[in-house]
Amino acid sequence: MRALILSDIHSNLEALAAVLLNAEGRGGFDEIWCLGDFVGYGPDPGSCLERVRRYGLLAVAGNHDYGAVGKANVDDFNDAAKAAIHWTSGQLSAAEAGFLAGLPTVVTAGPFTLVHGSLRDPLFEYLLDQRSAQATLRLSATPFCLVGHSHLPFFCRENGGSPLFYEFTENEEFPLGEERCIINPGCVGQPRDRDPRPSYAIYDSQAQTIQRRRVTYDIHETQEKMRRARLPQYLVERLAQGV
Ligand code: ZN
Repeated sequence: MRALILSDIHSNLEALAAVLLNAEGRGGFDEIWCLGDFVGYGPDPGSCLERVRRYGLLAVAGNHDYGAVGKANVDDFNDAAKAAIHWTSGQLSAAEAGFLAGLPTVVTAGPFTLVHGSLRDPLFEYLLDQRSAQATLRLSATPFCLVGHSHLPFFCRENGGSPLFYEFTENEEFPLGEERCIINPGCVGQPRDRDPRPSYAIYDSQAQTIQRRRVTYDIHETQEKMRRARLPQYLVERLAQGV
């Protein structure tokens, strides 16, 4: 079984389509595992939901997903994110809003636990340091955890209780062995590692490996849609900068 692991699509249909096309052309996949933030920031919330729901989909909610349907507090969002979430709320059909509201915050799939932020704070914690990694490993009932939210890819090994973060290098097969780990596949719709290319991962259950890949897409088309939708200029610009 091969799972396509996506996080933080953020209503970016061109980025999502490029990822799906690339994954299909490189061995394909059997199902999609999504780590939340389907919506927010970008111009195509409904079309992005429709695209991923064509596949077998296992997914958790992100802070933007719940924020768009009034299930999470968006007071702490910055002004641009808040403006985008209000715009998004107005775009969603009742069925789309119902889908987002019905997403769980944590699910398991085989040896993996899927969560947007972290296991001690599924919607809001940015898992980026040793302490937050320790806390999530302690709470995890499975050997491996998949997280998103920071939009920053990494591969973190438990290392006997002092977790170590490694670069999740592109196009390299990372073996999943005895050691527990936490993995962030990077972000589809708004990368923040100073590289605007969408990032995704493929898990191969037979080989017990996980690989990260990046793709290119027409950023200008997405930016043009954002301008037409009058989404904040700051969000339009950061997309091309990968920040
Ligand atoms: Zn996000």
